[in-house]
Amino acid sequence: MRITCPHCGRPAKVRTSRAMSPITREAYVQCENIDCCHVFRVFVSAIATIVPSIRPNPAVYLRPSARRAANAEGQGELPFEPGGGTGSQLLA
Ligand SMILES: [Zn+2]
Repeated sequence: MRITCPHCGRPAKVRTSRAMSPITREAYVQCENIDCCHVFRVFVSAIATIVPSIRPNPAVYLRPSARRAANAEGQGELPFEPGGGTGSQLLA
């Protein structure tokens, strides 16, 4: 994951981090621009599931990603009107 300094926009490097919870880490980040040298904290959190875990932690619940849910609904839609004449053409 690339982190950029909020002041100068240059790359910044994670120096250390610690777990705040099973889904959130706090990291201390230092800007690599020697003309800036900003040091700041960030939080990195899991916010949604895209592909469910094969070995889920029962203490963790992440809602399904809204984007993936929308895509899954879209895949189930038929490209033509149900009951219309085009369906038989696709099956033929
Ligand atoms: Zn900076």
